[in-house]
Amino acid sequence: MQLKVLTLIMAATAMAATNEPCFGADGRAGVCVSTSACSSAGGITIAGGCPADAADIKCCTKASCSNTSAGNCRWQSDCAGSSVANQCPGPAQMKCCSSAATGFGGYAAPAFPAVGACKAVAVTGAKTLVAAWPGRVRQIYCTRDCACPGTSDHCCGKAIDFMCSDGGGIPTTSGRQLAEWVMNNRATLNLKYVIYGQKIWNPSQDSVKAWTSWRPMEDRGDVTQNHWDHVHVSFN
Ligand SMILES: [Zn+2]
Repeated sequence: MQLKVLTLIMAATAMAATNEPCFGADGRAGVCVSTSACSSAGGITIAGGCPADAADIKCCTKASCSNTSAGNCRWQSDCAGSSVANQCPGPAQMKCCSSAATGFGGYAAPAFPAVGACKAVAVTGAKTLVAAWPGRVRQIYCTRDCACPGTSDHCCGKAIDFMCSDGGGIPTTSGRQLAEWVMNNRATLNLKYVIYGQKIWNPSQDSVKAWTSWRPMEDRGDVTQNHWDHVHVSFN
């Protein structure tokens, strides 16, 4: 019995991705940290915002930081103004932003892979999304060096990673809008499934719903593996 309880606790702990993004009240950008780390940084804790919410890890937001009256804590990649360090909960990339406006994207148009190893459905889907969201995708990856069929749809050239933050491994909340757009345009895109922010949506299993209600995925270990710096789209 004791073993079973321990196993359950460990499984739940593995779900909670500490120092990774979450959305707090009113969709405000937050970070998953311990409740004590949140309060010592002057933040507000919101229950249910982090995967599994286990091991005292909760979504922490800070609506007012001392940069300017408009300042709030957000991921540096998403800040439209200037960012000041050491005023926010979470890792260094969570900073006090001088602007209340969203600062998503602003990137030059990414290069598209040629149709070939990367299949036409994926190339077309990539171009359709980028055209709908100018400036929001910094880079595109399609194929991966693996045999088809393999562990990933990238192996068969039927998946695209839409990198939507300032760099690989840098988290963003920008991907949420892109991921929901993919869901809403599933027929046009010939969508197999879409992943963003440790959540997955599959048209053959899931009804249309807000990203916050998508099925949670296990903690794979880091910002990239948990899809906080890109949206993964698999095509049929
Ligand atoms: Zn991918």
